Amino acid sequence: MIRDYVREALLNERRSGRKILRTLKGRIVRDIMHVITGQLSKVSVPLAEYSDHGYAEEDVLSSYELEEYEWEKKIAGSDTPEFYPTISVTVVVVENSSRQQFNVSGESVEGSSIEVLVELPTNWPSKNFQALHAELGNTILHELEHLSQIGGLMSYDRGERYYAFDVTGEPQSGEARNYLLDPSEVAGHVIGYSEGASSMEDLRSRLRADLETYSRLGRIVEDDVEVVLSGWMDWAKKNLHGKKFK
Ligand SMILES: [Zn+2]
Repeated sequence: MIRDYVREALLNERRSGRKILRTLKGRIVRDIMHVITGQLSKVSVPLAEYSDHGYAEEDVLSSYELEEYEWEKKIAGSDTPEFYPTISVTVVVVENSSRQQFNVSGESVEGSSIEVLVELPTNWPSKNFQALHAELGNTILHELEHLSQIGGLMSYDRGERYYAFDVTGEPQSGEARNYLLDPSEVAGHVIGYSEGASSMEDLRSRLRADLETYSRLGRIVEDDVEVVLSGWMDWAKKNLHGKKFK
């Protein structure tokens, strides 16, 4: 059937787009770890010192712009990548004496770059590089997903179908309604957490744990945990096609 063929082709294209994204994510995360551990010669792209971070110099452990990651992009209907835009990644590592654990946050700048802030506790007693590596993976995938949603880096199939999901119930908190259930954020959170998850159930518990943190911090009401989770999981079921999510 022609229709089945088209469906299959679409699915394959989505899968290979994701694979390219995961490979790019892996490379960026390795490079960021090299920056954190001071092994600058191992970074896979040219880098430059970055001073426009807005932090007091004595708090900054390292700050670099990693330049020119090639991103193989595909165009609808083609089997092979057709153009190679580049993105840059800014990494700022600061010491934050008020933290007991590390914290990673990210931002994306439409069409061009990702900014990553890594906050480490003073002397970082646990030095849990494995956990930091995993958290960076989540953050980078989340931000790459945002870059793929708009502008010159927009990936194939970012239309109405892609952003559709159902929610059970009405969210009460503004942050749940306007941020966590914003369609581009739903995709960002699910894609970010999907990488470390071993199954759909594992993904569900990771997403729930994230939402429980929002609730514990008072950013959403407790009832919104299940409401937001229902939307995230519905999107996951419609859009994650990897074997582990069957
Ligand atoms: Zn986001």
